[in-house]
Amino acid sequence: MPVTAYYAEHAWTGEAVASGVVIEVDGERVAGVRAGVAAPPPGAQVLRGLTLPGLANAHSHAFHRALRGFAQRGSGTFWTWRDSMYDVAGRLDPDSYLELARAVYAEMALAGVTCVGEFHYLHHAPGGRPYADPNAMGEALIEAAAQAGIRITLLDTCYLAAGFGRPPERPQLRFSDGDADAWAARAAALKERGHARIGAAIHSVRAVPAGQIEPVARWAAERAAPLHAHLSEQPAENEACLAAHGCTPTRLLADRGALGPRTSAVHATHLTGEDISLLGGSATTICMCPTTERDLADGIGPAAELARAGSPISLGSDSHAVVDLLEEARAVELDERLRTRRRGHWSAAALLRAATRDGHASLGWPEAGRIEAGALADLTTVALDSVRTAGPPAALGAETAVFAATAADVRHVVVGGRPVVRDGVHLLVPDAPAALARTISGLISP
Ligand SMILES: [Zn+2]
Repeated sequence: MPVTAYYAEHAWTGEAVASGVVIEVDGERVAGVRAGVAAPPPGAQVLRGLTLPGLANAHSHAFHRALRGFAQRGSGTFWTWRDSMYDVAGRLDPDSYLELARAVYAEMALAGVTCVGEFHYLHHAPGGRPYADPNAMGEALIEAAAQAGIRITLLDTCYLAAGFGRPPERPQLRFSDGDADAWAARAAALKERGHARIGAAIHSVRAVPAGQIEPVARWAAERAAPLHAHLSEQPAENEACLAAHGCTPTRLLADRGALGPRTSAVHATHLTGEDISLLGGSATTICMCPTTERDLADGIGPAAELARAGSPISLGSDSHAVVDLLEEARAVELDERLRTRRRGHWSAAALLRAATRDGHASLGWPEAGRIEAGALADLTTVALDSVRTAGPPAALGAETAVFAATAADVRHVVVGGRPVVRDGVHLLVPDAPAALARTISGLISP
């Protein structure tokens, strides 16, 4: 028996925009969807604008948000940016990480994100000493997501080395469990709950020695859990892998059983033709993070080629230079246009699919990311009457949302049938900007 109903002025069904859409909700799930209803039924909550399935932010490091602005000073490289990031990592503890991540996830909710994939490697106290609860940092992230009203897949990350054949160096001691077996034992103690699922991650082939990749992949396979890995973000990683193993990072992951439909390769920027065949042929998802790849001058990954080869695409805000999944979505097409000097590689519909259905699937929530009976009732409504989005007819709502709207146009967010953002206001974290300012000022010295 449906207990709640929403009335979407317009809604994206996955292929087209429907109008006058009643979305009945029973508990956490959609009980029924009816389009073409002239007026809201009594008691229904009206969602004015274009309602999309909730957005999945498939790649996040919550604490990188503290570097916003600071990372934009001067020039620097990926590697100097990484030194600043290690400084912030060095100052966090479970209490301050809970406070920071709650504010970051509130920012995500305000941007229409209903599920985050948190690629989490800041496991231990300074020097590498485990906390009394060895998962205290991961638990802080799970709690932060609950307090901000969104879902989380905690991608507990194995991080064991500073580079090929090099033990972890000072800042990385907090990341390392010593070996993959110790990582697996700690990660196995994490428990799933209503809003939280657990996955695994191999930080990169730089940070996980070749012989330790298989145990992580096996851990994920035994649980049918998502497995994520940073892949070929920088040419230097490829060169070091070739020198150490005589093959590309993609080939190394493939040979160690780490590719496949439950795997997401994050970035996949600098690939060979064989890499593209291995990733596409194994249906490995590619998580594109264009605003971060842009910010760190990584390059433009071959997303269109990967998709043609068989890889689903997901999107992540990664370092949170900005938190705006609509910007990530359009960047996939617009970057490809700049690279090829041709238009029309991705339709708005295909990019929305990456931001919703395929992103959720990559995080182990296949029942989210669609507006249909039985799906999780996670909804994001984008205003079609803002100064950025007014003008086009509602039938072009997908094109308008992807190519013109920003996170600031997200008006309402519903997670599991429950309103989390209403009229642009977070209902659980009422002043997210103040929360971000307070927590970040305590972590970073200008
Ligand atoms: Zn990352």
